[in-house]
Amino acid sequence: MPDVSADIVLIRARLLAWYDAHARNLPWRAAVGAARTEPYRVWLSEVMLQQTTVPHATPYFHAFTTRWPAVQDLAAAEDADVMAAWAGLGYYARARNLLACARAVANDHGGIFPDTEAGLLALPGVGAYTAAAVAAIAFDRAANVVDGNVERVMARLFAVETPVPAARPELRRLAGLFVTDERPGDWAQGLMDLGATVCRPKSPSCGTCPVADRCQGLAGGEPTRFPVKAKKAERPHRHGFAYVLFDDQGRVAVQTRPNKGLLGGMLGLPTSDWTPQTPPDQPPMRGEWRMAGAVDHVFTHFSLTLTVRTAQGCADSGPWRWMPIETARAALPTVFAKALDRAGAPDLLG
Ligand code: SF4
Repeated sequence: MPDVSADIVLIRARLLAWYDAHARNLPWRAAVGAARTEPYRVWLSEVMLQQTTVPHATPYFHAFTTRWPAVQDLAAAEDADVMAAWAGLGYYARARNLLACARAVANDHGGIFPDTEAGLLALPGVGAYTAAAVAAIAFDRAANVVDGNVERVMARLFAVETPVPAARPELRRLAGLFVTDERPGDWAQGLMDLGATVCRPKSPSCGTCPVADRCQGLAGGEPTRFPVKAKKAERPHRHGFAYVLFDDQGRVAVQTRPNKGLLGGMLGLPTSDWTPQTPPDQPPMRGEWRMAGAVDHVFTHFSLTLTVRTAQGCADSGPWRWMPIETARAALPTVFAKALDRAGAPDLLG
């Protein structure tokens, strides 16, 4: 690797100047030069953004901060309310970690987030990325904040030929070369913004990039070749049944899923197991079950085809409870909301 120290200084200065002029206006971000955002808002936004995009996360962020304006409010919330509010954001283990962390901050730290990377890392459910991001953005600590955007920018700037994920330690080391005590929070956010708005995955705007003349990936003529990707193993596919059971008042049977496992602790519909071969079709009770078609859904580690069966007017008791359809649709994780929609509307009595 050639000596890049002069480039580092130049790239830092250019990117910070670019950030001063082009910083994204985000609901959880203070304006450049303004007082820093509360750690609670930074932490909440970073946890949400780990699994989704800014436009998708924004309404959730507003909903959470309206309902639970401070970490103590979130700590005092009912688990089920937080899980329901999280529905649609995916990766539901994060919602449980979110609560565990809020309660630790409220109960063990007097409602005040630790202001160092190490202190943040010691909180339950806070990983290396979130600890670094909150330390840099909320407390202006010199922390190396490395997400997918930053990895991509580093891979392109330095034309790193090692495929990811093996290249990750090298990309982290390269990102660390830029971290200093001078404006570390702005540096972290500037780099994230460059990755999100200019050095985009598929179509980077190299023509408007403030560091284009230092970019080895661009100099090679093919910047989108980086980060080099290892061949992906194919995502396995599973099959299952979802049972949409209506009563005569337009309510649907829902149940809370076991805490352990996929969508743990979330609201769900009765289902079969989800298996590589089609599992036995065993509705949870007797009735006139009809086929309502199928829905597809992609999880991180597998894709799923869920055959939807529906029945109505069932009085039998079971491990479920009845919930108005609109309430259920809002609270169910996406895969079950799709199945509910596929079942169509029930016939109501009266
Ligand atoms: Fe990314 Fe293009 Fe800038 Fe290189 S020149 S960092 S590829 S946007």
